[in-house]
Amino acid sequence: MKVLVAEDDATSRRLLQRVLAQWGYEVTVTSDGAEAWKALQDAKAPRLAILDWMMPGLDGVELCRRVRELDAPNPPYIILLTAREGKQDIVTGLDAGANDYLGKPFDRDELRARLEVGRRFAELNEKLLQTQTTLEQLARTDPLTGTLNRRAILERLAQQTARAARENSSIGVGVLDIDRFKLINDTYGHGVGDGVLQVVVNRSKAALRSQDALGRTGGDEFLVMLPQAESSQAESVLERIREAVAQRPVEVAGLQLAVTLSIGGATSRGESAEELVRWADDALYQAKSRGRDQVVMAARSA
Ligand code: GH3
Ligand code: MG
Repeated sequence: MKVLVAEDDATSRRLLQRVLAQWGYEVTVTSDGAEAWKALQDAKAPRLAILDWMMPGLDGVELCRRVRELDAPNPPYIILLTAREGKQDIVTGLDAGANDYLGKPFDRDELRARLEVGRRFAELNEKLLQTQTTLEQLARTDPLTGTLNRRAILERLAQQTARAARENSSIGVGVLDIDRFKLINDTYGHGVGDGVLQVVVNRSKAALRSQDALGRTGGDEFLVMLPQAESSQAESVLERIREAVAQRPVEVAGLQLAVTLSIGGATSRGESAEELVRWADDALYQAKSRGRDQVVMAARSA
């Protein structure tokens, strides 16, 4: 584990550096507050810091305040080193954002033990952050296909339609639905149906542009978001998706299945995401009633 030391007194700095290295810490030393502040803002800054209270320029307490103001998700655990041991000083240091303090000259065993507390704290925080990232990822993902789930794609669509309205640019959506999917399930079983859903997602994704996104909104229904697409561009991406799925049989469990999509598309410039999806849904209904395996663009499009 890395530790940042900020100490202007050379003797004390060398001593700290030596004992910390002995205990297996990777030490970054700085000799004043400004240097320490620079090091603490680095994305890979040490998660443990020992800061001398009294330093010329930026002192330890001011450093604590600045670190807390940054409000980073993984702030360093800060031990203030101070010759000032009055109760009011301790309160000031802790209020400024220090996690702990140690009197100077420091007792080695005490420093070692207090650093251990800091290390446990930093490791726990790191674990929590990882868990949070994993959970956020899970909350966005459709478990069967690995693509965005309904909530995630609708959230992104809402963001992007708002942005398109602000920037007066056009945005498209496509609503995709597998044709006669129930028949695949009924004929070959749910497992084969699941396999088809996965292939449909993979083929559809391969047909998207880099700025587009696809999410699963229902059983055999998907939504694609097409930022910066006028009606004709949206239609051509949606046609590419239809073609990518229909052009060759889907292979699942040794079977070769003909799978097609019906797609409704719509574009807007300033309308809400809900409105856009409603138009695309209407267009999808048209695509189904006109014989499936086709893209229909909503008449009311930008
Ligand atoms: P249409 O061409 O009109 O869309 O016909 P369809 O058979 O595709 O339409 P319908 O909505 O009746 O069928 C959708 C089916 O999708 C029904 C449901 O059992 C199936 N389904 C929903 N979720 C899943 C899933 O996760 N896995 C599998 N294998 N099937 C699913
Ligand atoms: Mg269907």
